[in-house]
Amino acid sequence: MDHLCPQLDTAFSASFAALPRLAALASSCGPQDRRWVLLAAGAIMACAPSGDDVFKVFSAPIAHLHRVTDQFLREIGDAENYVYLLQSLLSFEGVEIWDRCLEGLRTGEYEVECPHCGVNMFIVIGEDECFSASDDYSLREVEKVPLQPTASEDLEGLAKRLHDRTLADGQQLVARRLPYLFGRAACPDCGTVFPVADRVTANWTP
Ligand SMILES: [Zn+2]
Repeated sequence: MDHLCPQLDTAFSASFAALPRLAALASSCGPQDRRWVLLAAGAIMACAPSGDDVFKVFSAPIAHLHRVTDQFLREIGDAENYVYLLQSLLSFEGVEIWDRCLEGLRTGEYEVECPHCGVNMFIVIGEDECFSASDDYSLREVEKVPLQPTASEDLEGLAKRLHDRTLADGQQLVARRLPYLFGRAACPDCGTVFPVADRVTANWTP
């Protein structure tokens, strides 16, 4: 991967040319190796802009990698591998930005900037509490402003699809966190209320 996809954010024509081989490996190897193969292919595809020619040129291996990942997600127990492979699935579909931004669903934490005053803050989607805080909440007492989750029946588009899928795959923890990621937060400094997902994706928009 150091050569095929350095830092997991750069791909070359040779990287995409490896997709047919990775697709073949994905079916022929055992589950432990399959995970790495799918993550590698997902990282490469996350470097391809939506609608890029590689989706046409390598449509058959990409479709195969998508099928294998789709099946694998139904069988995975742990949330860590699940979230990373879910990003791979999105990258094979050409979904931009979110194929890199789901990690906070596993760690329970995103770092974003207030859209109004620009202050850095943490969005914590934890087991017990879900809040925004403008400073290092783990080191000292800070003001915690509760997050405002979207009701699961009001989730739309990709958010709804991810919520339905994670529930169907038995990933309760990830499913519980999605309404917060696609909900709203308030800046602890200036009080501006904003959609959490917009600020998360803003970190990745050039
Ligand atoms: Zn603010």
